[in-house]
Parts: sequence; C-alpha cells; structure tokens
Amino acid sequence: MNATSRYIIRLFIYGVLMFGPVNIVTHPAAAADYISNFDRIPAVENMPARVGYWRHPPRVVVCEHAPVNNTQIRSAVRFWENLGYDFHTVQYKSDPLGKCMSDKPKGYIVIHLISSGVRMEDSSLAQTHFYVDNDTNIIEWAKIYFRSDIRNTVLEHELGHALGFLHFNRTDHLMNQKWEMGGWNKSGLENKRR
Ligand SMILES: [Zn+2]
Repeated sequence: MNATSRYIIRLFIYGVLMFGPVNIVTHPAAAADYISNFDRIPAVENMPARVGYWRHPPRVVVCEHAPVNNTQIRSAVRFWENLGYDFHTVQYKSDPLGKCMSDKPKGYIVIHLISSGVRMEDSSLAQTHFYVDNDTNIIEWAKIYFRSDIRNTVLEHELGHALGFLHFNRTDHLMNQKWEMGGWNKSGLENKRR
C-alpha cells in the first residue's frame, strides 16, 4: 500500500455549456484532469482507453441527496450490463454500511450530490474520482459527484469512468469529454475481459 504506487484519477466531464452553439465548444472547456502518468497510452487512440478494472463486480450506492432517481440508475446500470459488465448490487438511497460517508469506499461506486468539500469547475456537469492500484490496474473505489440536474448520457458517461474508461473525443461517443459533442455511440466500450 505504498502511496506512491497508486493514483487517483479525477475526470471532469463535459465542457462549458448549456446547449450552446458549436463555436462555444472551442472554448477551453473543463479539462480531463487526472493525477498520473499515462505515458503508456498513445496520444491518438482509435478506441476509448481503459486504465482500470474491478477485481469483483462493484456495488453501486446512490446516496441520499444524489440527484438521480431509481429509474435512471437502473437504466444506466443496465446500459453497462448490456455491454458485458457485472455489478454486484444497486442500493438506492439505502446505505446501512455508511459507504456514502466513507472517504475510500472500497468495492463501491458511490454516487453523490456535489458538496462544498469537493472542488469542481463551474462548467462541469459531474465529476468522477476513481482509485486505481498502479501495479495491478485494479480499481479500488469510485465516487461520482453530480450537480443537481442530470442530463441525458451523463450518468452513463460517469459510470464509464467508474469502470476505468477515459475520454474518447469522437463525435456522438458516450465518453466524449464534452457533453454537447457526445451521444450514445458505444464503440470500444464492450467488455473484452469476459
Ligand atoms: Zn468525463
């Protein structure tokens, strides 16, 4: 558990904007910001880069104030299940083990409403932190923070980060960094480890 052998990845999703015209997109948007050295990942990818894996299917907890309804989380989890990923359970606003209060909720994907203790760019719609063991590429935990309104594809996009995917800036792709350039294209997201 040497701290230097691990890294935390912070991804600030989707840029600036509220349904703006396309030229706004050229603005420096919220950057994909992570603390690590991804030297081994080529600058140009023809599919989304994946940097981490869960050892066991993660448990998902939607915390009390998270702006996600039960239908939305079930639908987003099903989206990823259809791509070949397993989830242990989904707990909707039920957290008997206190994972929503945990700093490092090992084995869990925890979904929060953004709170004052978490720094997020004004232009970001959501943010995912996930913790990866640098030696094994195993994801230990993930925390997703949302602003109060969740737009189409954002929950699925953030779950993608929680499953280890980075951004992939192809037009209409789910993992596009900028929300208004993204969409439901899921190429390259199928689970190949099955
Ligand atoms: Zn993102």
